[in-house]
Amino acid sequence: MTSLDSRKQKEKAFKKGKISLAVDKSVYKRFSERDMIFARVMWDESYSGYRRAINEKEETKMGMKGYSQEGYAAMNAAWMVHDTFRQAFSWENPKQAPTSLTQSTIKPKRFKSSDLEKNSKIVKRIANVYGACDVGITELDPDHPYLYTHDRMNNEINFPEGVKYAIVMLIQMDYQALKTSPALPSSITTGNGYSRMAFAIAGMADFLRNLGYQAIPAGNDTGISVPLAIQAGLGQVGRNGLLINPKYGQSVRICKVYTDFPMKIDQPIDFGVHQFCRVCKKCAKYCPSQSILYDDDPTWESPWNSVSNNNGSYKHYVNVETCYEFWVKNSTDCSNCMRVCPFTKPPGIAHDIARFFIKYFPFLDPLWLRLDNLMAYLPWWRYGKKDDALKFWKGKKYLGK
Ligand code: SF4
Ligand code: SF4
Repeated sequence: MTSLDSRKQKEKAFKKGKISLAVDKSVYKRFSERDMIFARVMWDESYSGYRRAINEKEETKMGMKGYSQEGYAAMNAAWMVHDTFRQAFSWENPKQAPTSLTQSTIKPKRFKSSDLEKNSKIVKRIANVYGACDVGITELDPDHPYLYTHDRMNNEINFPEGVKYAIVMLIQMDYQALKTSPALPSSITTGNGYSRMAFAIAGMADFLRNLGYQAIPAGNDTGISVPLAIQAGLGQVGRNGLLINPKYGQSVRICKVYTDFPMKIDQPIDFGVHQFCRVCKKCAKYCPSQSILYDDDPTWESPWNSVSNNNGSYKHYVNVETCYEFWVKNSTDCSNCMRVCPFTKPPGIAHDIARFFIKYFPFLDPLWLRLDNLMAYLPWWRYGKKDDALKFWKGKKYLGK
């Protein structure tokens, strides 16, 4: 079979949701984290965003509508744990040198269980307790296509022998905050997601080490989160390149822990995202930097000649360079594409019904899209519409309620 035939078959299977990831391995190569846009900002002098910090306009923006002083205070504080507890994202065990009575000095006896189902259940239960709203387990492909070749500092990434599972955890974001994007409150829930990620991965890694197994905690580093989450059965990829979870839509952050603890793995799921994205295109329409493509179908190559786009994967490529430039202009990150996505909705029976039809009756997708657009004009719902930052500050709802 030629590479073209194989691509055609994969395209067909992808569009029908029969495969969750389509990769042409003759083109697709493992990627270095240094080529990721947030790393390139630090070294790539040819990029117009070189050395431009997202918050460089903070002082001039502060006080403008949606960019209050308390907003900046809360947004910067939301990153506190992520930025200070860097050991959470390290391969090293931060408890190597015990300093408190709560830390055991006894070398753990290896937990022996050949019941893979039981093993995955205990891991998932602990993931929930440590803050994950959803969790899935996948076995890594032997050629590691979704692991970075190098980290941001250009160190080669080589996994220890036997580490072949990824426990992928999702951290829920605050829907009310997200609804204000691109204003500041949405960035509060972004930063808060990363800080809670630190807690979840550090705890999960220590749990596994206490059971006598290896554990490598990771946020956005070490491997590409979206394909791993897809393989772990946590959702499908949307037109904007982000994960869509069947329950939380795009209002999640992804983190993972790699381990050699044997567990039952999950399978990818299909709930109609690929077909729905074909007709929807709302993320493209509402992207302030027009970084998302409008084409009906995905492509194998990026239309932009950017090292940050890794060709050979069948998807809608995103112009991450213009996206980042908008973040700088906005003086904080942006989540418009996540906010307007019709899958990003609070839990509710009406949404469950819509998701059922999207999954089993894709020919009705245009109807659901129209309904979603219509609901944007109902003052109580304002589906996908940007909420005023003041609404967030006056809000009474708290995470998880
Ligand atoms: S984050 Fe904002 S600027 Fe970037 S792709 Fe999404 S909507 Fe566009
Ligand atoms: S907004 Fe629409 S096109 Fe974009 S990811 Fe969500 S469903 Fe897909």
